[in-house]
Amino acid sequence: MGERATVLVTGAGGFIGHHLTRYLVDKGYFVRGVDVKFPDFEPSAASEFRILDLRRWESCLEATRDMDHVYHLAANMGGIGFIETNKAAIVHDNTLIDTHMLEAARIVGAVRFLYTSSACVYPGYLQNSPEAVPLREQDAYPADAEDGYGWQKLMAERLCRHYHEDHGLATYAVRFHNIFGPLGTWDGGREKSPAAICRKIALAADGDEIEVWGDGRQTRSYCYVDDCVEGIYRLMQSDHHDPVNLGQDRMVTINELVDMVARIAGKAIGKRHDLAKPQGVRGRNADLTVMRATLGWEPQVSLEQGLAHTYAWISDQIRQRSQRPAPAAAARVQA
Ligand code: NAD
Repeated sequence: MGERATVLVTGAGGFIGHHLTRYLVDKGYFVRGVDVKFPDFEPSAASEFRILDLRRWESCLEATRDMDHVYHLAANMGGIGFIETNKAAIVHDNTLIDTHMLEAARIVGAVRFLYTSSACVYPGYLQNSPEAVPLREQDAYPADAEDGYGWQKLMAERLCRHYHEDHGLATYAVRFHNIFGPLGTWDGGREKSPAAICRKIALAADGDEIEVWGDGRQTRSYCYVDDCVEGIYRLMQSDHHDPVNLGQDRMVTINELVDMVARIAGKAIGKRHDLAKPQGVRGRNADLTVMRATLGWEPQVSLEQGLAHTYAWISDQIRQRSQRPAPAAAARVQA
């Protein structure tokens, strides 16, 4: 192989983008990280990091300049509570970001462009039962995507295909299924179910009850972040340009997820179900036939192993936060 490609990671201040940046730097790439913020929990490993708002066209041009490969992860997003109540902002922001990023990549002459889509593109009518039939890539049509966030992802996948067909840009589209792990948002309203459950159990005493959204019988599959970045990288080396699922196909209920984390924590935890809270689709699982065939690989980290790492990290975050002086006390100390 000749000289290493230069690589852009957008959303490098976010959860998956931060892990991906470290992975690519460790592989020896020059990585430019771009985000509206620095990573929340530790410094970025990026060769250079630029703070840019990618809703703006000029920012996308600046971000992509001299970059060969673009891993585009930046998006306004969050867990189900967030995406169900911020649809206008999400569709507005992500439409601008994705449209400008693709066009900028084309203009600067980038060679490859990877788009991070979501299981939220799959139709609601296939996800009404907890015994979900694993979703295959072609099941996205006839479309009935998740309102807001999911429709925008589906439209952007199509835009990637148009850029591939009309302009020869090698685009890739990966549909993530519930990625989790350390260094992700764990409170504040944008966190996803594994992080929220780890936080609630870390804060609970042995024998306490925690609140669970919905009746807890909704099902999902979860994929550890180290496997996610490995899969992203392998896809970018492939010549598969159609959308592909990336995740695990072991389906668990939210109640089972709570029990697993409780076992890891060594606590007896009861569940108080709140049926008024958003719970998303009733059941969802991933069909990984295309992923296995295309990448010759599949995720390696079990749900129990991944949850153990995540629980340990979130417990540690909570401990550190409780040891920090309150803002008022800190101000007094500095004065
Ligand atoms: P994240 O929210 O941690 O990261 C997204 C990053 O994009 C954030 O750091 C945010 O600041 C940045 N961003 C938002 N608006 C921006 C703007 N205008 N300009 C520049 N940066 C901006 O989310 P994540 O979990 O790391 O997700 C990464 C990608 O994967 C997203 O596109 C998301 O939609 C997709 N995805 C994630 C999951 C999952 O389970 N985590 C599932 C499906 C799809």
